[in-house]
Amino acid sequence: MINVFNIEKFATHDGPGIRTTVFLKGCSLHCPWCANPESWSSKPTLLYDQRKCVSCKACVASCTQKAITFDQNWQWDSTQCLRCRACTQSCLTRALRFAGETMAVDDVVKEIMKDKEYFDNSNGGITVSGGEPFLQADALTELLKECKMQGLHTAVETTGNVPMSEIEKALPYIDLFLYDVKHLDVNKLLEVTGGRSEYIFNNLEMLAQRDPAKVIIRVPVIPGFNANHEVLCQIIDYAKKLNVPEVNLLPYHSLGKNKWEQMNRDYIYKDLKMMEKSELREYVEYGECQGVKVKLGG
Ligand code: SF4
Ligand code: SF4
Repeated sequence: MINVFNIEKFATHDGPGIRTTVFLKGCSLHCPWCANPESWSSKPTLLYDQRKCVSCKACVASCTQKAITFDQNWQWDSTQCLRCRACTQSCLTRALRFAGETMAVDDVVKEIMKDKEYFDNSNGGITVSGGEPFLQADALTELLKECKMQGLHTAVETTGNVPMSEIEKALPYIDLFLYDVKHLDVNKLLEVTGGRSEYIFNNLEMLAQRDPAKVIIRVPVIPGFNANHEVLCQIIDYAKKLNVPEVNLLPYHSLGKNKWEQMNRDYIYKDLKMMEKSELREYVEYGECQGVKVKLGG
């Protein structure tokens, strides 16, 4: 069984060709710009859409655990919740939904295989993302092994913030790593994201030593965090040092903002405007000089 919170079809930014991206629950980081904060908890997460709510309080009445309260504001106490889903069933306006469900690996594979023709025609395949996929290393391995048996190209998008032993389990079934590098300053990385350098950099260096062509470094470019010349050039230099041939710079976007609101969390970037790819053009040229292909976007 595997905990999934989304299966996105016809993805074109998560590796080569047309892909199906399977998003897994659970993350060991807490990046404040995260586009999928509902992935953080390994348990199903209740999302509340205020725009659809008519304040009927049927959800409050349906909850035997008193996990939902609605005095001034609607609130959910995840620690009291049994994930029985009585609340979502009682909400006639569909203001509530759970993100995350436990699926049989075979069922996920069946869903993926529906688009095999598109994968074959575009040199695409399957990408597993998250959250952090390696937090479910055993189930992930089973999924990827089955996909390889079906002749699919496989990619995993990872933070690298896990012990190498977890990555090793799935290693024979992974064709491509989309490996996040958010900063090279280990203190900043830990302070802002919770990322542990002894995992992130050691794992990346070990993967690059084995086969650098199987790694693409991905950098979410965040104003006030890493969106400056020195940091981005350092990351490109680091890719060169490791012989990793490609770096993807992902300009900041605010597509996760609604989800932060639906989880009653404060989104600190709410007033920040989205970045344009053109703001990062200089790094394509810098990469060319260094022999590293820098792509803007995934
Ligand atoms: S049941 Fe739905 S519409 Fe009614 S108060 Fe709860 S969330 Fe709002
Ligand atoms: S899933 Fe069940 S326990 Fe959790 S908030 Fe909804 S009704 Fe209450």
